Amino acid sequence: MADKNKRATRREKRKKYGYNPVRLLLLVVIELSILLGLLIFISIKYPDNAISKAIVEIASEYTETQTPLVVLDPGHGGYDVGSEYMGIYEKDVVLALALDIGDSLQKMSIPVTYTRNSDVVSWPEDEVKDLSERAVIANRSKAKLFVSIHTNATETKTGYGFEIWANGKDAQAMQLSNLILNQVNVLEYTENRGIKDVATSPIQVLEETNMTSVLVEAGFLESENDRSYLLDDVKRKVLADQIAKGIRDMLVEMKVYP
Ligand SMILES: [Zn+2]
Repeated sequence: MADKNKRATRREKRKKYGYNPVRLLLLVVIELSILLGLLIFISIKYPDNAISKAIVEIASEYTETQTPLVVLDPGHGGYDVGSEYMGIYEKDVVLALALDIGDSLQKMSIPVTYTRNSDVVSWPEDEVKDLSERAVIANRSKAKLFVSIHTNATETKTGYGFEIWANGKDAQAMQLSNLILNQVNVLEYTENRGIKDVATSPIQVLEETNMTSVLVEAGFLESENDRSYLLDDVKRKVLADQIAKGIRDMLVEMKVYP
């Protein structure tokens, strides 16, 4: 009789204070779902919010752990400024453009890696070793496409236009070049200077990379028209989107995307 009473009081207590572990777990799950829902809502409603940026960063880190399909190679960097026009360095412009292209590709769920994603470079201050290391990074990544990004320059400071360097004997490199040019043409951004064959001037990174490789000369810093596109954050993103679409078109042709 006394035992029965004790058990009854314990039951009463549990009821009163809610010690049920299943109910506790359920509460935690519900609260986490509400929190997650709230975070997703914030990231959609306020994409520039710090929390949203963190979520996007985590998501992009996740895609970087996948085998990349594309290696983007912003030319020059660190000790090597590339060409220069009125204090503007090629290395900075091509880094910004390459990062924009990478963002566009990642938005299309195309995993990307970079030979450099800041002004800090992983290679020594030696032009040959510099270019070799880019090829080593690219080959190690096992990506399908390698796209080196540069801006152009002339002695006379009168150049303008967009061109792509590729091996004329490499059908896939030629196709990738054409697909990028077709997408960039849509913008009426600048003169289409077409495809230049490396047979006339060998390019080390294209020779040493073992995947389909091209080098984009995205415009001339010395041209007011080209420069206005490349230095304007909005216009540069529009150009980056078109280059990314050309790269995507090639991945579709190669049947590795979507
Ligand atoms: Zn360059």
